[in-house]
Amino acid sequence: MARVALVTGGTRGIGAAISKALKAAGYKVAASYAGNDAAAEKFKAESGIPVYKWDVASFDACAAGVKQVEADLGPVDVLVNNAGITKDTAFHKMTLEQWNAVINTNLGSLFNMTRQVIEGMRARKFGRVISISSINGQKGQFGQVNYSAAKAGDIGFTKALALENAKGGITVNVICPGYINTEMVQAVPKDVLEKNVIPQIPVNRLGEPEEIARAVVFLAADEAGFITGSTLTINGGQYHA
Ligand code: NDP
Repeated sequence: MARVALVTGGTRGIGAAISKALKAAGYKVAASYAGNDAAAEKFKAESGIPVYKWDVASFDACAAGVKQVEADLGPVDVLVNNAGITKDTAFHKMTLEQWNAVINTNLGSLFNMTRQVIEGMRARKFGRVISISSINGQKGQFGQVNYSAAKAGDIGFTKALALENAKGGITVNVICPGYINTEMVQAVPKDVLEKNVIPQIPVNRLGEPEEIARAVVFLAADEAGFITGSTLTINGGQYHA
């Protein structure tokens, strides 16, 4: 029977590519999103993948959302913690709201989502938890103390959870993308991208969302059962942690 995969933030950018790649690989896929209904409806129409709206920063919303997905598709075998946001500013100007929003969405969500599915995975002795961190969680970045802290936290979360569940058929891994061609990066001014960002990438281009999605499909496979607690860096050679 087809395994069930749930991708948070699975309607746009990297998440949309992950949702589509998992579907193409034979999974029953659910994609969640926060509030951009137009993008979600467009994604649903073109992919045929069902979409679900809830805030991954809310534990209760995640509980209700996962319950609905499981009622519709069956127990979640593969959880992809992809949803994320940025609220960049120098730390000495950062507000508590900017700090909390980024920590809760990018790191709190890993607790809020994974906690809903881990007991079922343990009972069924199979599971894949794959989280999308960032190069900036590995190396730090100007204006991103909140984001870098959250994304570094995703890596620690992965290492510890992998240890706890290694004997139970559950793998837990994290991917650290470099700069990928999505709306998040397109929000960076074009001249900054061309003059400052791309020249720092040895392959001399942005990554494509599909290049992250391929790695998720690889890690989700039954055959990837010996890979756990690992951090997969996909950044065009820009940084090696
Ligand atoms: P996008 O901004 O293109 O898409 C973000 C997705 O996450 C959307 O589906 C959005 O929903 C959803 N989302 C955001 N906040 C929430 C929330 N609170 N609850 C539920 N869903 C939410 O992002 P990217 O595709 O660029 O990034 C995906 C992940 O990859 C993020 O974790 C990001 O930090 C990480 N990353 C991205 C890089 C890049 O270069 N793009 C580099 C390194 C890491 P909605 O459409 O409703 O807003």
